[in-house]
Amino acid sequence: MKSYRKELWFQVPTRRAFINITPEVEMALAESGVSEGLVLVNAMHITASVFINDDESGLHHDYEVWLEKLAPHEPVSGYRHNVGEDNADAHMKRQIMGREVVVAISDGRLDLGTWEQIFYGEFDGRRKKRVLVKIIGE
Ligand code: ZN
Repeated sequence: MKSYRKELWFQVPTRRAFINITPEVEMALAESGVSEGLVLVNAMHITASVFINDDESGLHHDYEVWLEKLAPHEPVSGYRHNVGEDNADAHMKRQIMGREVVVAISDGRLDLGTWEQIFYGEFDGRRKKRVLVKIIGE
C-alpha cells in the first residue's frame, strides 16, 4: 500500500473566506501515484473547515449569512472564550462546517459527485494556516 502526505498552506487576507482547493488535492493525488484508495483532507486549525459542496458564489454568500446568524462575530464580548481573543464565533463556524472530508480515489481520479468540490473554509484568517492531505491506496 502506498501512502502520501502533503500540507497545503493558506494565508487568507480577510477574516473569512471559502477557497476551492479541489485542484490542489488533485495535484497531491497525481504526486502520490495512487489510483485506487482514499484521500483525507482536514483543516489543521480549530477555526477553519474543510467541506464539500457547490462552487457557486450565491451559495457561499448564503453560507456567510447563515453562519453569521448562528454564530455572530459581534458582540465579541458575548462569548466567554473571548478573553484575550475575539474568535469564539470562528470556533463555532468551524464546528458547523466540519473538520474534514474523505473522498474515494477511483482510476486515479477523485470520485466526486457531479457538482461536488472541496473547499477550505476560513473563519479567522490573516495568518498562516494548514490543511493536511493524506492519501492511502495503491
Ligand atoms: Zn480561540
